[in-house]
Amino acid sequence: GEALAVSARVAPLGSRLVLLLVEDLTEARRIEAVRRDFVANVSHELKTPVGALSLLSEAVMDAADDPEAVERFAGRMQVEATRLTNLVQELIDLSRVQNDDPLEDAEPIRVDELVAEAIDRCRHAAGTKEITMAAGGTADLHVWGNRGQLAAALGNLVENAVNYSPARTRVGIAARTVAQPGGDLIEIAVTDQGIGISDKDKERIFERFYRVDPARSRATGGTGLGLAIVKHVAASHGGEVTVWSAEGQGSTFTLRLPEAGAARDRTHQMSHRD
Ligand code: ADP
Repeated sequence: GEALAVSARVAPLGSRLVLLLVEDLTEARRIEAVRRDFVANVSHELKTPVGALSLLSEAVMDAADDPEAVERFAGRMQVEATRLTNLVQELIDLSRVQNDDPLEDAEPIRVDELVAEAIDRCRHAAGTKEITMAAGGTADLHVWGNRGQLAAALGNLVENAVNYSPARTRVGIAARTVAQPGGDLIEIAVTDQGIGISDKDKERIFERFYRVDPARSRATGGTGLGLAIVKHVAASHGGEVTVWSAEGQGSTFTLRLPEAGAARDRTHQMSHRD
């Protein structure tokens, strides 16, 4: 409707321009649809724990003379409250990575520090499942970027590796330098021996709120936003995140980021040009 009306009006200007305008409108529509979906998803995700909390608080009041029931309901209220807290925190993280330019306060960051921080964050969850975590190849490597954002990205990948793996398996983190004509990259690969991801789901897991198994994700405190945050952080640093996986065997998520020296030289050259 709208797109056609516009194209009819500018048709004399040439078909190239018309095509561009139509594409622009289609893109604007797509962005608007994505935004609407996102708001609907957020509302739904918030409603679920809030609804549960409201029902549970009624149950607590009704069970006032049964201390055991009160304790049981209170425990479930705590689970729902934690879920809400996680969701709100991840929404804040997502909006921060989408709005802040990470390269404004970029600095060289030691890869071994990032990896140690990510492992620390998951130590408790890994411990209860007796999952072994091992890191290698990180010595003397530096990436260029925003410390908080990169720590959040790597932390999410390691957290997922632990969450989607059975007990007594291994999570490995390996780093190396990859030579590139446009400047070296650092590759950080997180490998698990977990449930894996089908080819069909691989295409969608980086979307906001997409989960292969929503019940399983919720049980581990997942929000469905982690990989969307990782993808955004990688892209805004001039890098990328990719996944390899075999169902029932495990997955490897690989984060590629600019190497600190190469990135600094590039910034330096740019500032000399103008
Ligand atoms: P969540 O909070 O649900 O973990 P993510 O955005 O981090 O959200 O991941 C999206 C979905 O991708 C998860 O719900 C899960 O189904 C799948 N997934 C992510 N990491 C792994 C992994 N290492 N192994 C298997 N499945 C994974």
